[in-house]
Amino acid sequence: MRTPRLRSLAVGAALAVVLALVACAAAGPRAAFLPTAAATEPRAGVEIRVALVEWAAVATFDLDGPYWISRLTDDQPLTRDLDGRKTEVKASDKGFDVGGVLLAEKEIRLHPRAPARLKHAGIRYEGTFHLVRNNKNRLLLVNQVDLDAYTRGVIGAEIGASSARAALAAQAVAARTYALARMEDEHRTRKLKYFDVYPDERSQVYKGMANVSPNVSKAVEETQGLVLQFRGKIFTAYFHSTCGGATDSAHDVFGDADIPPLAGVKDPWCDRATLADWSAKFTPKEMEDRLRKEEADLGELRDLKILDARPSGRVLKVGLVHVKSGSERTTKMSGAAFRLALDGDRVKSTWFTIERRDGKWVLSGHGWGHGVGMCQSGAQRMGQKGMDFAAILRFYYPQGELAKGYVPALEGK
Ligand SMILES: [Zn+2]
Repeated sequence: MRTPRLRSLAVGAALAVVLALVACAAAGPRAAFLPTAAATEPRAGVEIRVALVEWAAVATFDLDGPYWISRLTDDQPLTRDLDGRKTEVKASDKGFDVGGVLLAEKEIRLHPRAPARLKHAGIRYEGTFHLVRNNKNRLLLVNQVDLDAYTRGVIGAEIGASSARAALAAQAVAARTYALARMEDEHRTRKLKYFDVYPDERSQVYKGMANVSPNVSKAVEETQGLVLQFRGKIFTAYFHSTCGGATDSAHDVFGDADIPPLAGVKDPWCDRATLADWSAKFTPKEMEDRLRKEEADLGELRDLKILDARPSGRVLKVGLVHVKSGSERTTKMSGAAFRLALDGDRVKSTWFTIERRDGKWVLSGHGWGHGVGMCQSGAQRMGQKGMDFAAILRFYYPQGELAKGYVPALEGK
């Protein structure tokens, strides 16, 4: 591997990771989305695939200019220029019906003639769209986009374009690192098969070019190619809205490897954040109905007990004490599953206590989100106090190293 652009060992190690990823992927069905020169030329960009529509009967897109369609596997053109205003796509056993144009294919790609013209659900996207149809003729719509463009879309949606400059830059590095970690993961497991990330909380919230401001673009440029690593390896740089006073361990919350950058820290920076404290009330019937969706065997709910909690206060296990067929039982549920069964928007985190008050279940808690990795509220305050993005990242990911994780497409052009 000749890499004359290398400036340090850290860069070399990071590039090796990405090049290995690129080289392996080039042999498989994902070759189409990787630049052909990437295996020998490290300055090529990295692209990520985001599922915008998952196996729906109909998918729609829109563009204010011409586009053409190719076969996804080899990019062989299938059409001449087409008009893409409000186009509906359907699938049948014969193939795709793209606004009346019939194509006997399994996977196709839409290319706008001018960049950033493709729209879906009123939002504009950079890159291209893929369409995949399955055996039941359901459609998957994927946005394949340069990692920098994707990172801009995540920051705009995740932390807000008006945030402090250092907080935006820290978010750019975390979002980019998270994306690369997910791409590596998908490459290894092929779990999602046709895409790398979801456009929502299951991965990172991504809304194309909506909310991308000059400040957001500047944050991505300022940190171009920078990623977080631990001992030379990219890790999943989780982040969340508000920790409430302490962040938590990725090992306990997600079952990830226990490493110092994701072990959790005490956070004095978000104490006064508006979302730090919350409470949520549920009537006994509402509580029972919501829990039953998760636990079909639930009988008549008698009590709720916190069985296990982290020293930080985050709940690991809740006991649902209920009566079924005349006998009392306790069913265990993880804190994360309990939170989501009730409503992730009302029960904002797993850091809570439960009590019965005035005939209702009252949950009182701290923070918003899973609590792992960088706390956006705290990062925002650190930025306002004049700290730079590297200081913010060092604080939230102890022992994490900043390194050039890949060389963006623009460099060297
Ligand atoms: Zn915090």
